[in-house]
Amino acid sequence: MSYTALYRKFRPDNFADVKGQDHIVTTLTNQIKANRIGHAYLFCGTRGTGKTTVAKILAKAVNCEHTVDGSPCNECEMCRAIQAGTSMNVIEIDAASNNGVDNIREIREEVSYRPTEGNYKVYIIDEVHMLSTGAFNALLKTLEEPPSYVIFILATTEAHKIPITILSRCQRYDFHRISIDTIAARLDELLKAEGVEAEEKAVRYVAKAGDGSMRDALSLLDQCIAFYLGQTLTYDKVLEVLGAVDTEVFSQLLRKVLSGDVTGAIHVLEDLIVGGRELSQFVGDFTWYMRNLLLVKTSDNPEEAIDVSSDNLKLLKEESEMTDVETLMRYIRIFSDLSSQIRFATQKRVLVEIALIKLCRPAMETNLDSVLDRIRVLEQRIEEGVVQQVIVNPGAGQQVSAGAIPGETAPPEPEERKPQKAAPEDLQKIVASWKVIVGQTTGVFKQMLLKAIPKYNGETGAPILFIEFQDFLGQGYVDNPEAKQELQEIIERQTGKTVDIQMVVVNQHQHTNLAQITVDQAIRENIHMDVVVEEEPE
Ligand SMILES: [Zn+2]
Repeated sequence: MSYTALYRKFRPDNFADVKGQDHIVTTLTNQIKANRIGHAYLFCGTRGTGKTTVAKILAKAVNCEHTVDGSPCNECEMCRAIQAGTSMNVIEIDAASNNGVDNIREIREEVSYRPTEGNYKVYIIDEVHMLSTGAFNALLKTLEEPPSYVIFILATTEAHKIPITILSRCQRYDFHRISIDTIAARLDELLKAEGVEAEEKAVRYVAKAGDGSMRDALSLLDQCIAFYLGQTLTYDKVLEVLGAVDTEVFSQLLRKVLSGDVTGAIHVLEDLIVGGRELSQFVGDFTWYMRNLLLVKTSDNPEEAIDVSSDNLKLLKEESEMTDVETLMRYIRIFSDLSSQIRFATQKRVLVEIALIKLCRPAMETNLDSVLDRIRVLEQRIEEGVVQQVIVNPGAGQQVSAGAIPGETAPPEPEERKPQKAAPEDLQKIVASWKVIVGQTTGVFKQMLLKAIPKYNGETGAPILFIEFQDFLGQGYVDNPEAKQELQEIIERQTGKTVDIQMVVVNQHQHTNLAQITVDQAIRENIHMDVVVEEEPE
């Protein structure tokens, strides 16, 4: 039995079904009804707020043979062809993978031909901020004098990266994050259509977890339904599937923190981790919980401001009496800082522990911040190449735990300099292409690799490529076979060489003889001949 994801199955096919973007829908339908259609639209907004969905509906509406109240009829030949993705009139381009000048030049040649059927050729360029400078320049020429039958819809999550020259030629529409109420109402509709029973509290939790994105909320709902197929979806089940934590635990944690009980607070965290809870989710939820406390404390009628059951409200009122506004504000500040750091971190647990210690020990806060600042300065110096020699710390090798703050370990002793043999040619080739290799990785791994230094241990025989992370957060990749394999595959594709890889964290490994790999001039020149440099227009 095949299963279609809710978000695909219930993707709106007319303007009336688009939720939470009334300001945009109204303007667009009015334009269509009055036949005053623009030639360049810019849709901005966070992920999952309906940009591509609205772009496709608009593409149908401008080509539809008999629109209904500004919406496409979804029955005529044009509507059906566009819906099925077979129409030549709608061209979707993902700028993330087609970001070069040539991709845009192709479009410029194409737009000179009128559509053979229907009224408009519609180009939907998704993630348009990914275009190269050259590509933007090429696009600008088309936007300056667009043929009457062409419409560009540019979609982006990062409007600030679009050149002003492009912005000034587009009608800009900002897609809002969708409210919890609107998402919950839509989820209710879909659950009914699917015949799935669910508690109201469960639905609201999923809607909140979507964080303004309808698509995210629907995927989360999908996960929950799939896990408990055929059963009523309860609040507890949703918490379990999403790795979330019940408010009772938050109240427990807050009481520990307020009494300055570091060990108690760390134990609560330990229980959460053992229970398989997701830490980023926990940080977000705990921040939200403290925000509710603050509202209870400062608002005259908190019932209207926050969205919790009357039982929970009673508990919140009780806790809000135990603390003051300034303390809560400090807690919220520390935890919201944490939530932006934790998304890209591999040592999530350490970061949460440090934050909990900060909450429990206000006096330590400035101290900790100064330590983090010292790490930042060191990192910067490594990046600038000021610290070049291999640093060895004989006492290191242990995991950083809540007690040991990074940066507080014994000062590293400089290594005795000994002459280093040149690295084997294979390693030199890899290092010569290192930027290109790292460029093919993604996410946090890429961030860590960008700062890592490839090294060599001077041994003959089958060479080992040592990747030395310059940040203790790299620890998460040290014994990770998937990361290792991913990197090996990229290296093999890029250089045709199979190499053994060992990942280590600076100051935390026992290899005392690692040296940076220098690349011989001959190899460097050879590699450069293979690199294709993108040509800029004029
Ligand atoms: Zn139609």
